[in-house]
Amino acid sequence: MKKWNLLIDVAECTNCNNCTLATMDEYVGNEFPGYAAPMPRLGHRWIDIKQKERGQSPMVDIAYVPTTCNHCDDAPCIKAATDGAIRKRQDGIVIIDPVKAKGQKQLVDACPYGAIWWNEELQLPQHWPFDAHLLDSGWTQTRGQQSCPTGAMKAISVEDDEMARMAKNEDLVVLKPELGTKPRVYYRNMWRYTTAFIGGSVSKQVNGIVDCVEGAKVRLKQSGQTMAELTTDNYGDFKFDKLPEESGAYTVEIEAPGAAPKSIDVTLGTSTYLGEIKV
Ligand code: SF4
Ligand code: SF4
Repeated sequence: MKKWNLLIDVAECTNCNNCTLATMDEYVGNEFPGYAAPMPRLGHRWIDIKQKERGQSPMVDIAYVPTTCNHCDDAPCIKAATDGAIRKRQDGIVIIDPVKAKGQKQLVDACPYGAIWWNEELQLPQHWPFDAHLLDSGWTQTRGQQSCPTGAMKAISVEDDEMARMAKNEDLVVLKPELGTKPRVYYRNMWRYTTAFIGGSVSKQVNGIVDCVEGAKVRLKQSGQTMAELTTDNYGDFKFDKLPEESGAYTVEIEAPGAAPKSIDVTLGTSTYLGEIKV
């Protein structure tokens, strides 16, 4: 049987917030019996964009990660709910019953992703219900997907086997897989958010003029082993990316034409720009 999944490409998300706003447009002040009570105008972000800046000026990048209810297959919120207030549909979508869940504030803490929001006025826990009311009436995409200008967000209905194959072949990941909750929201290019880089800019003084060194060989070593090798671009820049954060001691070796080899030790915490390196 086909089930719904949400695919998000971190490399394509520009933080335009259209998906967040389209979702608010759908639910604020609107009631969908059996699916969702009205979302409050303030205080809830059923699609919440996280962001992370990496590096130091001028070598900086920012990644944006839209987060929402993961519609987990093994959902802790379902176990924490009384009176069957949260249920899993056959198509994979998790629904917080807007009547049965009334007063069940414990559900906010039951979600390890912070995806359940408390509606003080209605005394109701709420989440993004995957626009199930729209899908049930024939829509083939969610409001967030429809409003996304870059194609970063996409809902797909496929069999679980196919989704597992896609995840493996396309390097898709889920949030907090170690919890075993089996999320149905998958991320592409998550390394932009979770990993670190070591970068720098190589320059050389010739006849009193400092210039960028293009084509210098740069090697990244850890415990004496070469991890990666690249050459500087026309700005003299190099960047070793997708390194685990807090991964310890590295050595960067630089060989530029007509210059003595240079070696720099760095202990990697978060992304590090080594600055201008004169050879
Ligand atoms: S993300 Fe949280 S609210 Fe959504 S299904 Fe999983 S545990 Fe429940
Ligand atoms: S609409 Fe698309 S690009 Fe904009 S914030 Fe949402 S996912 Fe990112």
